[in-house]
Amino acid sequence: EGNLLISRKSSPVHSSVALDQPRPQEIFDNMLEKKIDICFIGGIIMDMTSYMDAFPKPGETKVGHRFEAGYGGKAANQAALAAKLGAKCAMVARVGDDANGRSYIDHFRSLGINVNNIRTSDKSSTGAANIWVDDSGMNCICVILGANLDMTKQDILDAEDTIAASAAVVIGLELDIDIAHFAIQIAGKHKVQCLLNAAPMPKDMHEDFFCIPDVFNVNESEASIATGIAVTDAESAKLAARHLVEKKHCKTVIITLGENGAVFGSNDGAQFVHVPTDPVKAVDTTGAGDAFCGALAFFWAKYPDLPVETIVKKCCDVATMSVLKPGTQASFPSREELPEGFI
Ligand code: ADP
Repeated sequence: EGNLLISRKSSPVHSSVALDQPRPQEIFDNMLEKKIDICFIGGIIMDMTSYMDAFPKPGETKVGHRFEAGYGGKAANQAALAAKLGAKCAMVARVGDDANGRSYIDHFRSLGINVNNIRTSDKSSTGAANIWVDDSGMNCICVILGANLDMTKQDILDAEDTIAASAAVVIGLELDIDIAHFAIQIAGKHKVQCLLNAAPMPKDMHEDFFCIPDVFNVNESEASIATGIAVTDAESAKLAARHLVEKKHCKTVIITLGENGAVFGSNDGAQFVHVPTDPVKAVDTTGAGDAFCGALAFFWAKYPDLPVETIVKKCCDVATMSVLKPGTQASFPSREELPEGFI
């Protein structure tokens, strides 16, 4: 009870977060005045998937079954999901001066995502993931980050007005780690609610990556790298979440656990909670973590009156819906596909 009182009075940066309560009133008021719901900063990647009976050996040429291009990149997937749920989204990113980049920008426009802060690089290609899938379902992936690595601090400064005009900013790490760090600092400067999806997880991260964001969201393997605790189930995830709060000074931690749902906790220290998912027969789990994070951004930005535990449950539900269909963004539910009263 004492913590709740403190959290309503102290500054957003240092307050403790109570999981079963709406967020403090001043944060709530500040968020509802914003013009943009969520600004996403991170990777745009075109997924190029080839299906074949078996992988070619080095030096060998094979004829495969079929090819599919799909829109990917973690932050871009998350933006697509939040936009499909009805959030006003903006993307800060880079593409190359090529067909993939132009196609991606058109795709974002069709989803109603603001693309004014997507720059075109002349020195690198649009990010591309070359994915091979064999008949057993095994995959081999080579990701070329390409233009994503050309993002500069100036790109972030050029987007500063957009960041400041957003209720929440989501930052992913498919870009230069120093640029991501700068983006976190700019979000912090404007006291915009900041969600870090620390994926892919680098070996070393500045302490700001843990203590500035309002939400630190990772999956099992990223949580293991960040803490040195082998996260394999809900109990070990709770230990890792506690470690992130107590040792790394994260505010709210959410660790996704695939078919086991998610674990979350906050610096109110009281409890670390496991939210199981409904058991389903998954068809394709690609992008499940991005569906979760996109839903998290949606509810975090648009419904600050919801307790964190309610938000995490809804994110699990949305992510679980996404594993029932093939594809990445193609599997993400739109608002109309959600059950009546879900939002
Ligand atoms: P990532 O894609 O980053 O590895 P996870 O595998 O942890 O992320 O999945 C994110 C979320 O997607 C989970 O918290 C869960 O809600 C949902 N999910 C993933 N796999 C399944 C599954 N097999 N059955 C039901 N839900 C799933």
